[in-house]
Amino acid sequence: MKNLIILGSTGSIGINTLDVVKRNINKFNIYALVAKSNVDLMTKQCLIFNPKYVCMTDEQAAIELEKSLSLHKIYTKIKVLAGFDSACELSALKEVDIVMSAIVGIAGLLPTLSALKAGKKVLLANKESLVTCGKILIKELCKNRACLIPVDSEHSAIFQSLPKSFQNALGRASFDEHGISRIILTASGGPFRNISLTELSKVTPKQACNHPNWSMGKKNSVDSATMMNKGLEYIAGRWLFNASSKGIDILLHPQSIIHSMVSYIDGSLLAQLSIPDMRIPIAYAMGFPERISINIRSLDLSFLEKLNFYSIDKNRYPCLQLAISASNDGQSASIILNAANEVAVEAFLNERIRFNRIADVIKRVLDSLVIKEPESIEEILWIDQQARKEAILSVNHFNN
Ligand code: NDP
Repeated sequence: MKNLIILGSTGSIGINTLDVVKRNINKFNIYALVAKSNVDLMTKQCLIFNPKYVCMTDEQAAIELEKSLSLHKIYTKIKVLAGFDSACELSALKEVDIVMSAIVGIAGLLPTLSALKAGKKVLLANKESLVTCGKILIKELCKNRACLIPVDSEHSAIFQSLPKSFQNALGRASFDEHGISRIILTASGGPFRNISLTELSKVTPKQACNHPNWSMGKKNSVDSATMMNKGLEYIAGRWLFNASSKGIDILLHPQSIIHSMVSYIDGSLLAQLSIPDMRIPIAYAMGFPERISINIRSLDLSFLEKLNFYSIDKNRYPCLQLAISASNDGQSASIILNAANEVAVEAFLNERIRFNRIADVIKRVLDSLVIKEPESIEEILWIDQQARKEAILSVNHFNN
């Protein structure tokens, strides 16, 4: 029985993880749950999974959760904690075997780092932590003999298509030594793949959150629509798989059946295929190195009419181009890109800027800040704060 903590249990990945646990109740025990402020859902999750600890990073929400749980008998057994420091401490507890890192945005960084420092098996959905802090996270992964398993479906597909010796040396294994020529991220193209570029300025948050293949949280859905999601996967993928800019490609694949591929020097292409359901990469990461059953529909190739692939139209996805440039420019640019994107997406969801202004906001922030490469977590968080301030100004500039 493995003790699991879920960072971000009330989100889309968190809920899917709990579903996998439910289907494998003899293998995993929910030791702790962490979220920000969704007291109603956290109460329900506590009543079902009875964790030892629960933490709301929003202090007021922790007080409300305590009140809510006190209405139920189970209350006496669950310890309610508050704040970010508690989330970091829980991630490092010696009783915890596995940490699911599924908080959205840079907020996921510190608890993920804490888990890696404590040598845990970390299942990484929160790609923003690698985007902003890849160098330090990989260093801590190696130093503390922690284990990092990607959860993002594309990174999971690549991971599953790699040899064991590469999987065991994530972040430092070399393409050359394993006969790898490049990795290929697939992208669905999001909900606006076929609408005209002029119409993009009129799309609403509701339309942007309506992904054709995947059901995700709002931020991730908007990121998928702008393809910033692919850009963040690109940056995080370079850290995870130690890939140069020439060693990673992106291909449009609207059906989301092939989740990504690895191309080898002998001309072989290894890929992972499945229906688009996040419980599959989550279960793979939870069970690794074994596979666990989750009893869901598997892919039936006889029902597939075709699989299509296209190269990316650069004009349609400026956020993706900004992310690739930021990745080449270095860690500071990636932190700025990520922070500006978080601010811009929130502004779009609150209808303060139009969809096609998200890229403009980010570009303006990237152009206006020149910051040296960070050496520490404190410097990373400082750069993130500077970029957020600048992004707020940039949102005001492009306000509807
Ligand atoms: P959601 O928006 O659905 O959920 C976010 C979760 O993070 C919620 O539990 C939320 O708590 C919690 N959270 C947000 N801010 C804080 C904070 N400051 N402190 C503590 N908890 C916080 O996101 P997703 O599940 O869609 O995505 C999570 C991560 O996984 C992202 O990094 C995303 O890129 C990645 N990912 C998601 C995929 C998907 O299919 N959804 C696929 C691949 C990767 P509360 O509910 O209380 O606000």
